[in-house]
Amino acid sequence: MKNIWTTYTKDQLAELDELNERYKQCLDEGKTERECVELAVAMARKAGYRSLEDVISKKQKLSIGDKVYAVCMNKMVALFRLGEKPVSEGMNILGAHIDSPRIDVKQNPLYENEGLAYLDTHYYGGIKKYQWVAQPLAIHGVVVKKDGTAQRVTIGEDAADPVFVITDLLVHLAQDQMEKKASKVIEGEKLDLLIGNCPLNEVLHEMKKGKKDKADGRETPADAVKENVLRLLKEKYGMEESDFTSAELEIVPAGKARDCGLDRSMILSYGQDDRVCAFTSLFAMLDVKEADRTGCCLLVDKEEIGSVGATGMHSRFFENTVAELIALTEGESELKVRRALANSRMLSSDVSAAYDPMYAEVFEKRSSAFFANGLTFNKFTGSRGKSGSNDANAEYIAELRKTMDEADVAYQFAELGRVDAGGGGTIAYIMANYGMEVIDSGVAVLNMHAPYEVSSKADVYEAVKGYRAFLKM
Ligand code: MN
Ligand code: MN
Repeated sequence: MKNIWTTYTKDQLAELDELNERYKQCLDEGKTERECVELAVAMARKAGYRSLEDVISKKQKLSIGDKVYAVCMNKMVALFRLGEKPVSEGMNILGAHIDSPRIDVKQNPLYENEGLAYLDTHYYGGIKKYQWVAQPLAIHGVVVKKDGTAQRVTIGEDAADPVFVITDLLVHLAQDQMEKKASKVIEGEKLDLLIGNCPLNEVLHEMKKGKKDKADGRETPADAVKENVLRLLKEKYGMEESDFTSAELEIVPAGKARDCGLDRSMILSYGQDDRVCAFTSLFAMLDVKEADRTGCCLLVDKEEIGSVGATGMHSRFFENTVAELIALTEGESELKVRRALANSRMLSSDVSAAYDPMYAEVFEKRSSAFFANGLTFNKFTGSRGKSGSNDANAEYIAELRKTMDEADVAYQFAELGRVDAGGGGTIAYIMANYGMEVIDSGVAVLNMHAPYEVSSKADVYEAVKGYRAFLKM
């Protein structure tokens, strides 16, 4: 069995370590799509990228080697580095998504039940609900007030912060629950987040003053715990209960990305689908200083729920941005925009299911992605007769093989599980609609969509190498 760890030189191992340290830091700083965009923009600006919006408003022109970025609603970002050749001759595009499965807070979420305060939630993306209970959780997001001010919220990451939890039933009373199917064992409406138990201090105060005579807790007014939560939210974030309606609060596992294994060969972290592809694409994009063709790194939102909405891949944001780029370089031309898109090629990167010996029955070994075997290419995904998949062209794959071999990149070809065992979607088919060459590629991950997912550091390293080679292709 191939294992690329044995092929590295000392220098390569040093580079591998350095890249993975940076990758873990990015995972910690980017736990939501908004945080990822903020991080990507900060990194791009540091590398000399300018805001496309600024370039347009200042009526500047763009030329070879110029680097720009464009952001859509703080949740989607595209980076471009202009190549020697005109944009209309096509770009080399690295695409990945920055939204991850999680649990979202509803718009009217706060309630109290028997002295416990909760936030009502609706999960986001495909999760096994039973995996999200009984573990420390953090809240990340924004609260936008009516005056337009946006208040960032991050609770549960700092060692001094409190964390939150979704409770599960104790095993002693779970006789009936344990008989249920896994999809029913924890129901969606039972995924509410426990956030408080102490009544508003004024109430306790009143009791002490004798205005209320029983201090055993049962005489506290209804909703006093909720009132106390509201007081704390007001103090800390200046928010009213109604501000929840214009908030986006995401519940994610609390804590940092960690090395995994005695040999530290792997990474255990939340959100590696698809940030393992997003950050490696971004690293490669910022590394490559010059290339014949225009390079692009596109990080999108909403993949986990079907790429819908203004910030998902189905939105016109990317097409519109390319039109602006054409206008700034070759002059406004609808035809050239279409040519730029059709002449482009893309690595649509998303995680692939790594072969798991514990669940060998759902894999077909000859078409599986293995840890420490390099960048994964999926000619097709989908299931049931390749249904809904983007079936990459043989000609394009041949070109990619040549590029990867010449750059000494380890890669493998795989499919997501056995035929008819299931399947999964990506953004590849959407970009393919423009008539460009697209292939699904990415990093193999164990435990996909679980609160903590596992990747191989060697594959992270090969992904960066592969993406750099692709940008110069
Ligand atoms: Mn994904
Ligand atoms: Mn996914």
